[in-house]
Amino acid sequence: MLIPASDIQEKVREIGALINEDYRGKKPLLVGILRGAVVVLADLMRNVDLACEIDFMEVGSYGLGSTSSGIVRILKDLEEDITDRHVLIVEDIIDTGLTMSYLHDLLLTRKPASLESFVLLSKPSRRQVDIEVKYVGFEVPDVFVVGYGIDYAGAYRNLPDILALELDTAGE
Ligand code: IMP
Repeated sequence: MLIPASDIQEKVREIGALINEDYRGKKPLLVGILRGAVVVLADLMRNVDLACEIDFMEVGSYGLGSTSSGIVRILKDLEEDITDRHVLIVEDIIDTGLTMSYLHDLLLTRKPASLESFVLLSKPSRRQVDIEVKYVGFEVPDVFVVGYGIDYAGAYRNLPDILALELDTAGE
């Protein structure tokens, strides 16, 4: 067990309150990155008391392995035009930072009024690119995590807590 559900809920409430202050008078567009951010986006948006909207993108990197290849594929793009919108990317984990960096650069080309990001978990020791994330839930060590929307090969997303998964290098 790395982070129990109660700690996650408390943190999401705290960050929701920060977003309420920072975006007061604005109508932010929360962009959930499928599929891992579905659970945290659902909780976060219920702690935002602004007239926010949501949209989704799905991205993937090549292969099913537990580490990012650095080559990002857009599997589903946004439905909304984000020109002049206040966009907040909502992502489950920032690991090497390659996915977030790619998304950030891509969305900036669409001329949003502002572009910030939220990540539930950050693994600072793994970072390969320097990228500023405005809202970070928890910093975690270099372990493979699952639960609360985060998967291993599609499994474990439904667990309410965040757990560290022991990957068996023998291939079990
Ligand atoms: P990055 O491009 O290396 O920052 O990778 C970010 C993406 O890798 C996340 O959105 C996750 O989909 C995936 N990822 C990184 N670490 C983990 C982990 O510990 N468990 C599950 N997925 C992970």
